[in-house]
Amino acid sequence: MPMFSVSGTDNSIQSHSTDAEFRYFVEKFDDIQILKYQVRDFDQLTLRQKTLIYYLSEAALSGRDILWDQNFRFNLRIRKMLEAIISSYKGDRETADYKSFITYSKKVFFANGIHHHYSNDKLIPGFPESYLTELIMGSDPSLFPLGKNETPGNLVDIMKPVLFNPSVFARKIESRHGADIISESATNLYENVTQKEAEEFYAGKTDLNDPHHVSLGLNSKLLKRNGKVIEEVYRSGGLYGKAIDSIIFWLEKAISVAETEMQKNGFRLLIEYYRSGDLKKWDEYNVVWAKDTDIEVDYNNGFIESYGDPLGMKATWESIVNFKDSEGTRRTEIITAFAQWFEDHSPIDQKYKKGKVKGIAAKVINIAMLGGDCYPAAPLGINLPNADWIRKEVGSKSVTLANIARAYDEVSKSTGFLDEFAADQVEAERSRKFSCIASLLHTDLHECVGHGSGKLAEGTDPNSLKNYASTLEEARADLFALYFMMDEKMLELSLLPDKDAARAEYDSFVRNGLLTQLVRIKPGKDIEEAHMRDRAMISHWVYEKGKTGNVIEIFKKESKTFVRINDYVKLQELFGQLLKEVQRIKSEGDFEAGRRLVETYGVKVDPELHKELLDRYEKLNLAPYSGFVNPKLLPVKDNQGEIIDVKVLYTDDYLAQMMEYGSDYSFLLCVTL
Ligand code: ZN
Repeated sequence: MPMFSVSGTDNSIQSHSTDAEFRYFVEKFDDIQILKYQVRDFDQLTLRQKTLIYYLSEAALSGRDILWDQNFRFNLRIRKMLEAIISSYKGDRETADYKSFITYSKKVFFANGIHHHYSNDKLIPGFPESYLTELIMGSDPSLFPLGKNETPGNLVDIMKPVLFNPSVFARKIESRHGADIISESATNLYENVTQKEAEEFYAGKTDLNDPHHVSLGLNSKLLKRNGKVIEEVYRSGGLYGKAIDSIIFWLEKAISVAETEMQKNGFRLLIEYYRSGDLKKWDEYNVVWAKDTDIEVDYNNGFIESYGDPLGMKATWESIVNFKDSEGTRRTEIITAFAQWFEDHSPIDQKYKKGKVKGIAAKVINIAMLGGDCYPAAPLGINLPNADWIRKEVGSKSVTLANIARAYDEVSKSTGFLDEFAADQVEAERSRKFSCIASLLHTDLHECVGHGSGKLAEGTDPNSLKNYASTLEEARADLFALYFMMDEKMLELSLLPDKDAARAEYDSFVRNGLLTQLVRIKPGKDIEEAHMRDRAMISHWVYEKGKTGNVIEIFKKESKTFVRINDYVKLQELFGQLLKEVQRIKSEGDFEAGRRLVETYGVKVDPELHKELLDRYEKLNLAPYSGFVNPKLLPVKDNQGEIIDVKVLYTDDYLAQMMEYGSDYSFLLCVTL
């Protein structure tokens, strides 16, 4: 869908032809779809900002090998083997086996190793073991990762059990009850140590009385050498030193084009940390990074998330590079500027309104490069740093990734999902036209003013809603967004191009809450997740309360269930009524009323309807996992070698990008020679 550039207070909409032509879908294989994101408005950045993005992007790509090795100790060797075959196999490339080999390779590239990025199960090739021999013997032997005195034949023998035996290195993270979650996991954050040894190693090492204690074990591998458990720290001159040196090289260049002194200082601290491996430095760096908000270009780079560690301590390497999204920033600035107007016009009880309200300017960004554990599977939002004490004392940065969200949204329009579940073609068309801008505005209202509005009554215990608190809080923010979405003010402030955009949001919210979100629930289960409960609760409540006026209609067509909104004005009123009640529940800490609301409308699933929806969804044959190819940032240089511009090039060739990264950002040895 075209970008809306709304100038001043005039509601004219201009569509960017280049945006309209941008193809977001790249390819689909197995359970994965590959998309590409657009680096919108890159041309509006200064040369200095573009250059900064280029340097940080090179730093983001430099750490790729680190993640591969962290995931599993054979991964780099396997990857180089796949690359060697893909680039030099002389046999027939049209056979079913070869195609199966390519699909397997694509899956391994996607997972940054041979274990599924989400399920952690080992990916088993779809071609026979004997075919691996054929592939290796039919390729250029000089390209293979071989140890001293090893032949391609040896490689075949080493790789066969690693790739094909389902019980060897079966899971990256083994969390089965009763398992030794360290020694039975294939992850390379630990080697040759048991869970007990790892726990003993770290026991008592954290000074819990120190409010500023470091994130113990975050940037190291724990292993046993000569019978002794030791830590190998990731740092220049240490483990992963060669890749880290490349990251440092590009960060040093970034210092020269930093936007602020604080950002410069951040780069210096990050470099010191990469040189020393000192976790105190890492915290010092994060404090500066968290404070540094007055910038256009920002980034993350480091050993950050610990989901990949069965013990939740050690972090995998990741990086993203981004800059402010001007359209999104414009929207959130308008909303926060009018925060008091929203509060004053909210349908809640006067006595629970805040006298003085301040909006939260959530930052909307565009991604320019994904690296490490953020590539190819990208996050939708980021909230860092992770250290609790920094979050409490300094704060954190919370951002939404506009161009990633847009890519998902655009691609979903052509999947057949809307045609299957929308009530009619008019609704489907309206959604295609407006769902992107409408859902972005919903998110902005929810985050910038929804959560922050209202106040507790004197003496109310803020924890009184207990296990229903998050569902009710999400519902409150959603209802706030929904209520104002349909207000004339949205058009007046140029936040929406057309009333139909608000209608599209109502359609999709209610359709999702009553029907389509159920496809994410397993048969026989209740709705558990807070956001899903919130949406179900709101949708079922307004459906029931609007029954007499036929506000929302549930109907069958050829034995399929659909939802249609007949009265949008009345529906807005109902959203307002429920907002008022949910605010009262929160303000008064009325646990019983909150419990009843959630349990009556937000938890139970109609099994017959559920089955129907699951069947319809399955027939669409959608890929459950998505990832992205990166753009290529190309510096344009003058005769003196100075960068005079940076160009953004897009690719539709996922495999070629993987091969290119394999040759350009390969810093770590994969085999001890
Ligand atoms: Zn929320």
